[in-house]
Amino acid sequence: MNVRELLPTRRKVPTKFPKEGKWTEHKPDLQEDFNFHCGYCGSYDGYRHTWFEVDHFIPKSLFIPLGNISTVEYTNLVYSCKFCNNNKLSKWPSNDVNIHNQNNQGFVDPCDKDFDNHLLRTSDGGIMWKTALGHWMWKYAFKFDERDYSIKLLWELNQRRKLIDAFIIELNKRDENSKEYKEILKEAEKISFEYYRYDKELMKYYNSL
Ligand SMILES: [Zn+2]
Repeated sequence: MNVRELLPTRRKVPTKFPKEGKWTEHKPDLQEDFNFHCGYCGSYDGYRHTWFEVDHFIPKSLFIPLGNISTVEYTNLVYSCKFCNNNKLSKWPSNDVNIHNQNNQGFVDPCDKDFDNHLLRTSDGGIMWKTALGHWMWKYAFKFDERDYSIKLLWELNQRRKLIDAFIIELNKRDENSKEYKEILKEAEKISFEYYRYDKELMKYYNSL
């Protein structure tokens, strides 16, 4: 599986044209364009402890002194969970804004489909590397190895969230007194209980950090 279920795609023309330094004004557009998930680890943004930020793919510390990219340049922004953003920081493999990776170090833009050639989602919801560059991103840039437990919990939660949403759609189509309705409800309740347990486990984990 791919780390992100859908490949994020930045819109050609953002809704807003913020002044220099006001890149967070792009956040609502980015949230939509990244399908409400982190561009790097693919975690869903609906859980309270995984608040989301606007990351500069090419770090500000590199391009601000050079003055060749605007801080509000939409094509350089990534909708990112704080864990990915905080680990990535100003890491970059070169002193050149055009060299995103070299010698198996550096990054691939999360909106480039090549991103999925380097990292993958395992069947238990973890993240694994496929290439040497993927390994560098996995270990040194985003520390997916250290974050394995929470990444899996977030994935389990999100699978159940999607199931519950699908069950709600099915329930709304049926008569409350029908046999089918009751069967779907029973299944939905089971999944909701699992959801609750994963959610509790995740909160416990975050509170222990
Ligand atoms: Zn992330």
